[in-house]
Amino acid sequence: MSIIVEHVCKNFGDFQALHNINLEIKTGTLVALLGPSGSGKSTLLRTIAGLETPDIGNIIINGQNTTHLDVRQRNIGFVFQHYALFKHLTVRQNIAFGLEIRKKSRNFIKHRVEELLALIQLEGLGNRYPAQLSGGQRQRVALARALAVQPEVLLLDEPFGALDAKVRQELRSWLRHLHDEVHITSVFVTHDQEEAMAVADEIVVMNNGKIEQVGTPADIYDRPATPFVMNFIGAVNVVPPHISLVAEHTTEVLPHPVFIRPHDIEISALANPQNTPARIQRITHLGWEVQVDLILADHHQLVVHLSREKFTKLHLKKGQQVFIKPKRGYRGDTCEVLLDKASAYSA
Ligand code: ADP
Ligand code: MG
Repeated sequence: MSIIVEHVCKNFGDFQALHNINLEIKTGTLVALLGPSGSGKSTLLRTIAGLETPDIGNIIINGQNTTHLDVRQRNIGFVFQHYALFKHLTVRQNIAFGLEIRKKSRNFIKHRVEELLALIQLEGLGNRYPAQLSGGQRQRVALARALAVQPEVLLLDEPFGALDAKVRQELRSWLRHLHDEVHITSVFVTHDQEEAMAVADEIVVMNNGKIEQVGTPADIYDRPATPFVMNFIGAVNVVPPHISLVAEHTTEVLPHPVFIRPHDIEISALANPQNTPARIQRITHLGWEVQVDLILADHHQLVVHLSREKFTKLHLKKGQQVFIKPKRGYRGDTCEVLLDKASAYSA
């Protein structure tokens, strides 16, 4: 079921929470709405669900204009951050809830609940109560309950937001696998760029009630459309244009800074007239990556990320002088790629 959001505006009093949102979500895709807190993600999700009515614009689900349809008339499953499980019902009874209301046969319900318990990998726990489950297990039950009635669209608002990092990560890949099995058109709200990148087919980046960019995780990371997206999706160095690191690698005289990702800077221990000298201020081990904080001759600071393997090979030490060269940079105004030594990537 495709979802089309057409010219949607939503105000709360005189505050404009959504400004002219246009978006098409293709059937069977898993889309993330990503943005900082207050950017309008939940308002957009709630508008798609029918929990909010847009002031202007339409929501079209599978060709039908649902803008003024009641929530109950839209076939939508919803999962929120805070587990909305019924405490006094067992896991089985929670999953069966929507089916009981729809007066499905006892046999059908029994079969469907077992199927869902298998899908969420909680086969043995059907008779437990929510209080006897971990947070991650509870969210899986909430998801099964939402899926029980076979909704056409699944909406998830920060479903893993209340869980700790490790469980979040497990549930992320679990949700991705689940979606690959069920293929239900799903919209997933998160403020965590890593989560959006790990889970979604497409990411919708929001800021101040507007869409900044829509694209695949790779698109958004490699070809950010705006400085906001550049900064929001991953770390970036903002380098003034007069700095030789940039000036020596472009023929243009730039009036604005250049964005360089920390892994797009090549670092060498050997002097090379084409490279910019810098001194290592700090070395931080970040698991498989190492962060090297550098200071240039004019006191400008830069962050470089390199693999552990590369780091070990270079024998880098705090205080050491090194020589650096940008592999790729983006214009600070338009985010167009300014310098791209693609060959450096194959090295
Ligand atoms: P997000 O989910 O991206 O954090 P929301 O969509 O919840 O953002 O909110 C966007 C903005 O709209 C926020 O500034 C929020 O305070 C405001 N807002 C959301 N819901 C209401 C409401 N019911 N009444 C007034 N303001 C609201
Ligand atoms: Mg929200």
